[in-house]
Amino acid sequence: MKLDLKLTGCRAITMDPAHPAAHTIGIWQGRIVGMDEQIESLPAAETVDLGNAVVLPGFIDAHTHLAWNGRRTIDLTGLTTTAKVLDRLAGAAGEGWIEASGYDRRIMEVPLTAADLDRISAGRPVYVADLSGHACVVNSVVLHQLPGITSDGWLTENEQLAARSLRLPYSLDEITAELHESARQVLAEGVTMCAEAGIGAGLIASSPLEAAAYQRVQLPIRVQLMVSAYVLHDVAADPADGIPRAIDLGLHTGFGDDMLSLGGLKLWTDGGMIARTAALSEPYIGTDNSGQLAESEEFMRAAIVDGHRAGWQLAIHAIGDRAIDFTLDAVAEAQRQRPRADARHRIEHCGLVRPDQLERIAALGLIPVVQPTFLWSYGDDYSEIMGPERAPWMYRGRSFLDHGLTVAGSSDRPVADGAPLRAIEFMVRRRSSSGRAVGPDEAITVEEAIRAYTLGSAYACRKEHVLGSITPGKLADLVVLGDDPRTSDAIADIPVLATMVGGTLMPQR
Ligand SMILES: [Zn+2]
Repeated sequence: MKLDLKLTGCRAITMDPAHPAAHTIGIWQGRIVGMDEQIESLPAAETVDLGNAVVLPGFIDAHTHLAWNGRRTIDLTGLTTTAKVLDRLAGAAGEGWIEASGYDRRIMEVPLTAADLDRISAGRPVYVADLSGHACVVNSVVLHQLPGITSDGWLTENEQLAARSLRLPYSLDEITAELHESARQVLAEGVTMCAEAGIGAGLIASSPLEAAAYQRVQLPIRVQLMVSAYVLHDVAADPADGIPRAIDLGLHTGFGDDMLSLGGLKLWTDGGMIARTAALSEPYIGTDNSGQLAESEEFMRAAIVDGHRAGWQLAIHAIGDRAIDFTLDAVAEAQRQRPRADARHRIEHCGLVRPDQLERIAALGLIPVVQPTFLWSYGDDYSEIMGPERAPWMYRGRSFLDHGLTVAGSSDRPVADGAPLRAIEFMVRRRSSSGRAVGPDEAITVEEAIRAYTLGSAYACRKEHVLGSITPGKLADLVVLGDDPRTSDAIADIPVLATMVGGTLMPQR
């Protein structure tokens, strides 16, 4: 046998307990076929000496928004005054919608209003997305098209969705360009697979044809698509199937191949902490606001039960502890109606988990899909709004592992920085960007954090049989690093030297 590629001079951390370290990796037909003495004597078409670089399984981002992330909009990141925001927006070229992102209401001296936006809009509709993804500011041109909504321009959740729907859809060409841009970004950070968290409808959607863009685009990374539960519709299936609602053709989780597949059915049960819309059982500190559930409980429960019955792995957005209570009850009800082994339902974000909820999450076999970098970016703010009792319960690590849960790493890019090494550093150190300790008892080891971003996220995407570790037979997705995260004291700053997908080294930006 002749290998296609032999990587020598590796310091590989394989995540495979049967062979935890390796110096030589053999690759054939896009797969890892052996390591060290298993393949050392085999000839290879190409041999690459990595010069003692550290090699890990490629990072898998289990929850990201590729199209949204790649969208070219006016960037308002870090701007704190209306004058600066308007100055930036006033330069908008072209006609039609003026779209901006990166707006952060929390840091504004005075929040932006529709009247402010009217001063620079020249009659064009303006949509300023809040970085939470759960809110926006629009001008009066947009408000006039939303009868029944009374607002100074700030819209959250369903009102935001109504404004968003006026702009949609984006064309397949636009989405394609966005996906290429995002794929370049994620590869440079060592990510070889992304799960796109909710296409087709809902807050994040770009077009009802969204999947067609992924099918034709041929990205250099693997992608799994979560489908919005809003596209479930009644189907006239045989009653014996017990499936009242499905998406067309009965497609569900698992359809596709190793490059592009269908993942979870994405449901939203609450908002987020940035917009103070995550549903809590006790109010945000200093307010009487406890956030809000995304829809009526009946509506959400029916979507969970019907999605479960139709064979979907559910990917349920729940950030606040009240939303998590609801999710636990609804998943238990779905399992009662139709017991399904290894349904592997996921809780997207799983942001604020009370101690009493840990056992129930474990008993239902749910997977917390966490975004550690939220707390690096926003941990100071979140700690304040949660207060000292609840702050240590946010985006847990150690207590999830101690309860036997599989933790999946993810970013929610572009809501937070997408670099996996930044997330891994946070999971280990539990320090925000300002140095504040956030839930220090939830710290996990470097190996455990790497596991979350490789095998853990592969498991959450039902791909652990082909991805997530450097194991003979698995796909050859690797990341090559300039230093060993286990001994580095600046994990986030470790250079990503190369990324490999299916045995092909990808150009780094
Ligand atoms: Zn998301």
